[in-house]
Amino acid sequence: MTADAISPVTFCLLQFNCVFLKELLETCYVTYMRRSITVFPKLTDKEVSAIVETGKQYARAFNMASECLINNSSTSKRFLHNVQYGRIKDECPSLPTGLVQCARDVAVEAVKTWNVKRTKLKQKHPKKAERMKRPSMKEKCTMRYDVRTVTLRGSQLTFSTCDKRIKTIITIPEFFGERYSSSEGWKFKGANIGIDKKRRVFVNLIYECPDYEIVENDGKIVGLDRGVYNIVTTSEGVHYGAKDARRVKRKYNYVRSGLQEKGTRSAKRRLVSISGCEKRFVHDQNHCISKKLANTDDVSVYVLEDLSSMNMLRLKGKSNKTMRKWISNWSYSDLEFKLTYKCQKNGIKVEFVDARYTSRKCSVCKTIDKASRNGNRYTCRHCGSSMHADVNAAINIRDNYITRAQKSGQAAVNQPYGWGARGKPETEPLGQTLTSKPSGSS
Ligand SMILES: [Zn+2]
Repeated sequence: MTADAISPVTFCLLQFNCVFLKELLETCYVTYMRRSITVFPKLTDKEVSAIVETGKQYARAFNMASECLINNSSTSKRFLHNVQYGRIKDECPSLPTGLVQCARDVAVEAVKTWNVKRTKLKQKHPKKAERMKRPSMKEKCTMRYDVRTVTLRGSQLTFSTCDKRIKTIITIPEFFGERYSSSEGWKFKGANIGIDKKRRVFVNLIYECPDYEIVENDGKIVGLDRGVYNIVTTSEGVHYGAKDARRVKRKYNYVRSGLQEKGTRSAKRRLVSISGCEKRFVHDQNHCISKKLANTDDVSVYVLEDLSSMNMLRLKGKSNKTMRKWISNWSYSDLEFKLTYKCQKNGIKVEFVDARYTSRKCSVCKTIDKASRNGNRYTCRHCGSSMHADVNAAINIRDNYITRAQKSGQAAVNQPYGWGARGKPETEPLGQTLTSKPSGSS
């Protein structure tokens, strides 16, 4: 919201209620946002081979840069440039300077991430940290282009390669142009170019809006429990089932095992195409669910459990063999990613909380008891409340977030709005329950 847009509103509201005005100003904020779209330009064989050659040299430049950074334990772009630029130029003579710089930037970022991961791992498993694989790029890589190496004017795309600059015409889908138009502040920021499994050249166009205005949603806090049987269950009691996904996965698992036994060349080809089908199905499903969640009105925060550590996943699936198989190809992080970026646009926050004991704790009396859970039913042995186990977990996730927010001083984060599941009187305020009966060890 610009200053001009606020001032008349400010003037009107000052006469009514200053408190409300303050709230209004606080719920609007400006943020940086990024969106991308993939297109497949039609290129000649000569142009494709130029891109393949560029990829090879780009990967070599990246590997040299990352090796140099790790050996000198540095993450400075300037240091890298002074030490390694000349050598990279000698090693990859036809790689354009702009792309050498892009490879250098990507290498610096990769080494930074690698350092963070390694430091974390060192605390728990020092030996594993020693053996951790260094960041490297294969010859078939995706290259990052910045505005100096790729330009887009209307529908004409030009980008540099080892040979000469490729000029091609692309078609951007209409909906994308309308939604992310330059009149609303969206700018073309670069592209990722590479070659996919089917040997098609793909161009991933990146658009940025440095000051995207977000109006924060005013509403309730909803906990989400992710699982294998129900992809998502909300603390309001809504289930997004995984019946279809499991059916499709079962089917592909069956077909795959048959093909792997055969092992002929056509069987291998079929295996590749099957993996594509399965992936597309899962992506579509995650898109649909996250879109539905992000477009729900009256929600201000979605609370998810933090499943980033592998231990958490193991806990979630226990140690059953079938369960482990499902867990292994469960796309929880993809859903997380899609939900986060869709919610951001609609002013809904996505928060993460500690996932421990969320499925073993009673959401009403907060007693942790493993035996209370029987299949998908949670019947508390202490207070007698009974509900779907996933709903119980989702409520616990939401309450964990509220407790954390209260502890860190954002006391007014949640207004009691009644309980999504059965077994809790509507009149009892949420905050009281939480403070008078603190949860066990979680
Ligand atoms: Zn209970």
